[in-house]
Amino acid sequence: MRHLCVRKNLLYGFMRRFSMPFKTLRGVSRSLGGVSNFCSIKTFSTLQIELVPCLRDNYAYLIHDVNTGTVGVVDPSESLPIVDALNRKNWNLNYILNTHHHFDHTGGNLDLKERYGAKVIGSALDKERIPGIDIVLNDRDQWMFASHEVLALETPGHTRGHISFYFPGSKSVFTGDTLFSLSCGKIFEGTPQEMFSSLSKLMSLPDDTNIYCGHEYTLSNSKFALSIEPGNEELQSYAAHVAQFRNKGLPTIPTSLRKEKLCNPFLRTSSMEIRKSLNIPESADDAEVLGAIRQAKDSF
Ligand SMILES: [Zn+2]
Repeated sequence: MRHLCVRKNLLYGFMRRFSMPFKTLRGVSRSLGGVSNFCSIKTFSTLQIELVPCLRDNYAYLIHDVNTGTVGVVDPSESLPIVDALNRKNWNLNYILNTHHHFDHTGGNLDLKERYGAKVIGSALDKERIPGIDIVLNDRDQWMFASHEVLALETPGHTRGHISFYFPGSKSVFTGDTLFSLSCGKIFEGTPQEMFSSLSKLMSLPDDTNIYCGHEYTLSNSKFALSIEPGNEELQSYAAHVAQFRNKGLPTIPTSLRKEKLCNPFLRTSSMEIRKSLNIPESADDAEVLGAIRQAKDSF
């Protein structure tokens, strides 16, 4: 397990760049007013994020507010690694956050709920498919994790009800199986256009946002990315870094949005080198390019 401490004293000024309006979820969060108010709030944010490897290549994340002791887990594939991590820290568990319904993201829900009485949070669209769900979120709902604002961003494409959890105060977003380092999720329940819109929504966050995704796929993703954009020097150097980290058994997560914009082919649909590599006509729009990249990766 890797320990990552995010301790920031942040002015929420960067929210100006994230101009989406948001709603406050009645009953489970407190209102901070509109975006213009929100921009002027100066606050302290103290959140710890701990990566917990699960199954073969999944990552769950423990989130801990050091001021109140509130603890959540994002996408517990299975319960035992989470229970072990909580025991080591002597932490309770208050919330289970699910990005989507797939079993390798929700498999630990019911056991953890029973052991700790934790509340399960997920997409309203998938309330029938997320085990034990208590709190449902829609696009742009705001939810409070202790004093931390969390914005639910609907990011469909991999599944219909996929959401990403954005913590602006800690510059962190949990992207499940929508955005990986150097790739995106397979498009099971959506269209390339939907996945493109979801990725564009994530790309509208500040460049220094930390990306916490659902799987450690980065090394194999780097091989595909290099195969279609071999001349990308940023990608070459990131791929070398990733290989070194994986050789040492270290996680490559979190990545940053800035890095992904420079290296991830699914965020680089305007790259002429990628279009040329895949024989995509110049007239193709971004969603069509994304579909073609996804198709090429599926058979890579
Ligand atoms: Zn999935």
